[in-house]
Amino acid sequence: MIRHNRILSFAICFLLSSFSSPLFAQQPAVSPPPDARFKADMLVFVAHPDDESMIAGFLARKVLDEHKRVAVVFATRGNAGQNLVGYEQDRSLAEIREMEARDALASIGIHEVWFLWAPDTPWQDLPDVLRSLEAWNHGNVLEEVVRFIRLTRPEVVVTMLPDVVVGENHEDHQAAGVIATEAFDIAGDPTWFPEQVAAPEDRLWFANLMEGLHTWQPEKLYYFTDASQLGFVKGKGPEYSMTAISPSQHVSYAILAAREISFHETQYDGTPAKDLASGKLGEYDQPVTLILGKSLVGGSVTGGVFQGVILGPIPFAPVHGYRPSVSNRSYGMELGGGWAFYKRFYSAHDLASMPELLPPEIGVDGGQDFSIPLLLHNHTDSSVTFELHTHLAPGWSVGSSSAQYAHHAISVSRFMVSMHDYFPVRLRLVAPRTVRSHWQVITWTATANGTSVGPIKLRVYVR
Ligand SMILES: [Zn+2]
Repeated sequence: MIRHNRILSFAICFLLSSFSSPLFAQQPAVSPPPDARFKADMLVFVAHPDDESMIAGFLARKVLDEHKRVAVVFATRGNAGQNLVGYEQDRSLAEIREMEARDALASIGIHEVWFLWAPDTPWQDLPDVLRSLEAWNHGNVLEEVVRFIRLTRPEVVVTMLPDVVVGENHEDHQAAGVIATEAFDIAGDPTWFPEQVAAPEDRLWFANLMEGLHTWQPEKLYYFTDASQLGFVKGKGPEYSMTAISPSQHVSYAILAAREISFHETQYDGTPAKDLASGKLGEYDQPVTLILGKSLVGGSVTGGVFQGVILGPIPFAPVHGYRPSVSNRSYGMELGGGWAFYKRFYSAHDLASMPELLPPEIGVDGGQDFSIPLLLHNHTDSSVTFELHTHLAPGWSVGSSSAQYAHHAISVSRFMVSMHDYFPVRLRLVAPRTVRSHWQVITWTATANGTSVGPIKLRVYVR
């Protein structure tokens, strides 16, 4: 019936508009602009409910005192975490965690909050970002993040550091950083997820495709990190004091941050509330330091996140993209897994400061059995045997599954690598037990056809 009336009214309109009298002159059609209710100045993309708490004092300052609009997108709903309040787990826990995150963000004035329902990757001793990208279904999450950039049209995107660090170093955190970076670089490109940016057939009718968004190029990309040792982030981006007093709230940003995290009761129970009551705000008092990933509009590295920002759309800025490196060497060796990916990812996405940010490092517990991925490359026209040497400090041992023979300090393994191919090696190592946390270095060298390859080094923080 509705449809019938619609066709009838369309026919009448057509008849009326065909009269040439000025009385029946047609008004020009007006194209509605993007929905202004969802325009954000800054979009934050994190992995889990409570990840936003790491920068809650900074977000409070932007929203409550600088009157910026901030939207937050969570990849997961925290379904795999612990519950310090009750027995609820998995999907039930996710329902609780989503509400906790919404309440937490509402406490600092943030109401545009979305969840992508990616699965939580359970805690791993040695995280690898590639495992989270696989578990999340990388392309699905990327499509969603691109959609939220196009919907909220932020000038600034803030996400987690795509790098391996000593600290919590959760692989989901790294995956959020990878996907936000990719989305930053493609949301302005209409050939990516074109169904999102095509106009619908008839926006006033029901259930018609497409999505009717516009492409959007964000201007500045910032990272924050869950690293436990933050020396390396100094000077890499702006630093925000948490002991400063909020002019509108009349308390420090540390207090606003502690209040924000207190809503995540399944993760922290009453601890933040107790800290607030006793005034023990040591960890909240630490400044929030961001790392500048890239800026398309200038501004200094340590300048505020909105320094240099241009209001309104800027042109799409295509990145350099992946280019295979041309090696003039016959043989090569590198750390594999996430490290090999990041090496290519940083240059493909024009993250000029990232390769030098931090030499490869991991943190392990004394006595921990873990594996390190290596890639052995053969660039020649014939197969070759690599003799791989792992140089370890006293107290370390090599797992028997990965070494053909080993003695106290050096283990040697042999691998046949086909022509123009690579061999992915996984070496199992056991860290020494220690009474005091300290840094050590593992070095690998190799020989192939009489040529020495490497060395490559990995800093290990043994706890
Ligand atoms: Zn997290």
